[in-house]
Amino acid sequence: MSQETYGFIGLGNMGGPMSGRLLAAGYKVAVYDRDEAALARVVGKGGIRCASALEVANTATTIFLSLPDGPIVQHVVAGPEGVAGGKAVTCVVDLSTIGPRAAIAAFKSLAERNIAYVDCPVSGGVGGAERGTVAVMVACPRERYETLSPVLKNFGPLFYMGVEAGLGQTMKLANNLLSAAAVAITSEAMAMGVKAGLDPEVMLDVINAGSGRNSATMEKFPKAVITGTFNIGFAAKLAYKDVRLCVEESESLGVPMMVGSAVREMLVVTNAVYGKDADYTDVARLLETWGGVPIRKRVK
Ligand code: NAD
Repeated sequence: MSQETYGFIGLGNMGGPMSGRLLAAGYKVAVYDRDEAALARVVGKGGIRCASALEVANTATTIFLSLPDGPIVQHVVAGPEGVAGGKAVTCVVDLSTIGPRAAIAAFKSLAERNIAYVDCPVSGGVGGAERGTVAVMVACPRERYETLSPVLKNFGPLFYMGVEAGLGQTMKLANNLLSAAAVAITSEAMAMGVKAGLDPEVMLDVINAGSGRNSATMEKFPKAVITGTFNIGFAAKLAYKDVRLCVEESESLGVPMMVGSAVREMLVVTNAVYGKDADYTDVARLLETWGGVPIRKRVK
């Protein structure tokens, strides 16, 4: 085990359990989150408390980020009290989903200070972050990928996406477009079936044994829709950000996304109706309201 001190900034739904995995594996980790409750949870697991991103960067050589979006990453990297001014940091590994343009901007800001930026988004949800099974999409020079692999493997299986910052993000946006489309279309199919008289649990069993199977029918609906909890742990506003970035990237490449645009609008409406704390699975609640049918487990 290396005696290097790592850093972790952004200790929310994903960063909390991922930093926890590093601590459980015996790494020293300096941690910071602007939310005291999130910070205290990871300090309780052995994280070294820091008062700012700059303090993390004065303490740790390699720093992981798990932050909501591109503007926040840019602020934490290059803003006042940001990582770029740190005395110890040599490498920033960004686990956030921010899209390729924001990744390239962060790469450039850090390169000015001779700090490496590794574009490294992850997929697999909060459960995957806890179990160490998220797909880790790494874009950086090969040598750095090899050096980082032992520590990154604590998060899940690694996939090398190429040298350039932004390639990991592009991969992640393609994945999340599919994930969001699955939530939206599963909501429609389930509302239709339940309103016609089918049992939602039986519907999911049949779909999961058949060709309609997807990440929403396998995990999100059984856990957080038919139970009525709507708490899969991924904010609808973050899902919207991902699909918006994906459709924008696609348009700029000259690839039309008609279905993707419809999925994006479903997330716009979910946020408008259920507010800033809406969960990803609240898309299904929209269909419950529009269809006039609860998609809930039957009392037997
Ligand atoms: P989250 O909102 O739960 O966590 C983000 C954390 O960043 C919060 O604790 C917040 O307080 C902190 N933060 C915000 N601004 C900060 C600042 N300026 N300085 C320090 N801390 C700050 O979000 P999450 O669900 O953990 O997602 C994190 C990233 O991972 C996002 O980019 C998201 O798109 C991506 N992601 C999420 C999931 C998921 O299922 N939740 C899965 C894969 C990827």
